[in-house]
Amino acid sequence: MPAFNDPTKLTAPEPVPFIDLVAQHQTIKGEVRAAVDQVFETQHFVLGEEVDQLEAEIADYCDARFAIGCASGTDALVLSLMGLGIGPGDDVITSPFTFFATAGAIHRVGARPKFVDIDPVTYNLDPQQVEDAIDENTKAIMPVHIFGQCADMETLWRLSVRNNIPLIEDACQAIGAEYRGRRAGVLGTVGCFSFFPTKNLGGAGDGGMITTDDAELATRLKRLRVHGDVGGYNHVEVGFNSRLDALQAAILRVKLRHLEDWSEGRRQNARRYSELLRGLNLLSSIDPPVTAADQRHVFNQYTLRIRGGMRDSVMEYMRGEGVGCAVYYPIPLHMQKCFDYLGYSPEDFPESNRAADEVLSLPIFSELTDEQLVRVATVLSEAASSVTALKFTTGGVAARRAA
Ligand SMILES: *Cc1c(COP(=O)(O)O)cnc(C)c1O
Repeated sequence: MPAFNDPTKLTAPEPVPFIDLVAQHQTIKGEVRAAVDQVFETQHFVLGEEVDQLEAEIADYCDARFAIGCASGTDALVLSLMGLGIGPGDDVITSPFTFFATAGAIHRVGARPKFVDIDPVTYNLDPQQVEDAIDENTKAIMPVHIFGQCADMETLWRLSVRNNIPLIEDACQAIGAEYRGRRAGVLGTVGCFSFFPTKNLGGAGDGGMITTDDAELATRLKRLRVHGDVGGYNHVEVGFNSRLDALQAAILRVKLRHLEDWSEGRRQNARRYSELLRGLNLLSSIDPPVTAADQRHVFNQYTLRIRGGMRDSVMEYMRGEGVGCAVYYPIPLHMQKCFDYLGYSPEDFPESNRAADEVLSLPIFSELTDEQLVRVATVLSEAASSVTALKFTTGGVAARRAA
């Protein structure tokens, strides 16, 4: 049928949201409601049975000996650093290309974030630069499993063992990610998770979890989250309040049962995008995410690199067409005002700067339909050619003469 007779061609295509938590909630509404009601029946809202159960289930899921719930992913990082005795005078090596909390947590315990640059393919810490940066002040290495793919943990683990410094995984974006058949959370000394609503396992508010195989550290973390109390108002050290709510735990237990399906959905969507981008001949200017053969990437974000300085125009075009997309993260942490005191200059971490200028994340949530995936890829393709064409249809000396 000719386009002018086809009523579907007259209406604009449906927008594709960047993330749609409502769609996911619709599939588990009844289960969540029952879990919430159950907590209200008990009127037990902080820690308690639901949290104990969630801790046991997360420990089992990650194959860790211990899991300790806390108030957020940020607190999981702060508690881990405190539990390992890291504080003033200590340096912690980490990535400048991450969410702020990674370095913020290091600052919060009085230690110094020591940045090293990332690998341009995976956006994860470059282990060679970590090795070069280790000195007598280095008291921990904190890799971030950025976007849901683990850092090069075997190399980092060797550095950690050889130098006798702990390895803290910022696994906030990577629950369920695997590296050589082991899950994020058990690849270092301690693993930190976030249950912020947009993470792969998201609660109905803030929440976090720490995993470890170290019994002594687990005991210390459990008391640090309750002001250092070992019971009966006996405080053996000063901690703070970072408890996990029973309501969050109950909801997360429901969602944990679906996590594998959702992660597989994200992985399938990622494969489909990569196939579509190849089909649309976009690979000369756009690099899709690369998953190493020994990894299971869980795609908290599906992040492309758009070369040629056209990322911002591509993003603007896509948003104009109703396709959600976002930049994680536009400002590397060594460039943040609050870290001026660390004394870095902008050019210290060229790969982090380049990533900040070139990355773009597409919608990847598991409920996306194939129609939506095709629409996103098609609009991306249109955006890329329109931005390229723009160079020869606007501006130039002709425009200046006309003005
Ligand atoms: C989300 C996130 C955090 C912080 O988690 P919150 O629960 O928001 O405190 C830390 N690091 C990374 C890499 C994150 O993505």
